[in-house]
Amino acid sequence: MTEWNIQSRARACQACERSFADKEHYHTLLFDERAELRRLDICQACWEKSYSDGARDRKGFVSYWQGIFEAPPARQETIQKDTAESLLRKLIELNDPQYIPAGYILAVMLERKRALKVKEQIVREGRRIFVYEQPGTGDLFTVIDPDLQLNQLEDVQRDVARLLEHGLTIPEETPSPAADSQPEPTPDQP
Ligand SMILES: [Zn+2]
Repeated sequence: MTEWNIQSRARACQACERSFADKEHYHTLLFDERAELRRLDICQACWEKSYSDGARDRKGFVSYWQGIFEAPPARQETIQKDTAESLLRKLIELNDPQYIPAGYILAVMLERKRALKVKEQIVREGRRIFVYEQPGTGDLFTVIDPDLQLNQLEDVQRDVARLLEHGLTIPEETPSPAADSQPEPTPDQP
């Protein structure tokens, strides 16, 4: 299973591909696939046509809710100091297991501030996994419960405070040398 991830809200129905209008009601289904929890956002018409008949087990999704689509605002260019949410996004994108405890603590902090809402709790291979929603953007955050012991908690909280204070330095990606190699010339046919 993918350790943790962020799944953004779709801008269009993933069944009929029609774009969502601002303030349109949509339906989110979570499918428990072998590799990960897969999100599917669909419109009202597709919900009624394909999924609403109550046979959840047969349709294969494990969780479901409704939301209201909000057209995303224009992207802001200003660089801000990391907030708990931007830091959590960076940690999940890094996908480095050493940050799983810090990610979990950040998610709990954000939940207390009502900046994230728990939508689902799933146990996979003996580990508890929380699916949080950011209510504004509709983004889903899949976060693993690291099952912290009380004596580990203080260290992790200190790490999180340090990350919030000083930020996370992400190593720059170096372009791979293979990317600028020329295509092989086609040999002349006799
Ligand atoms: Zn649709």
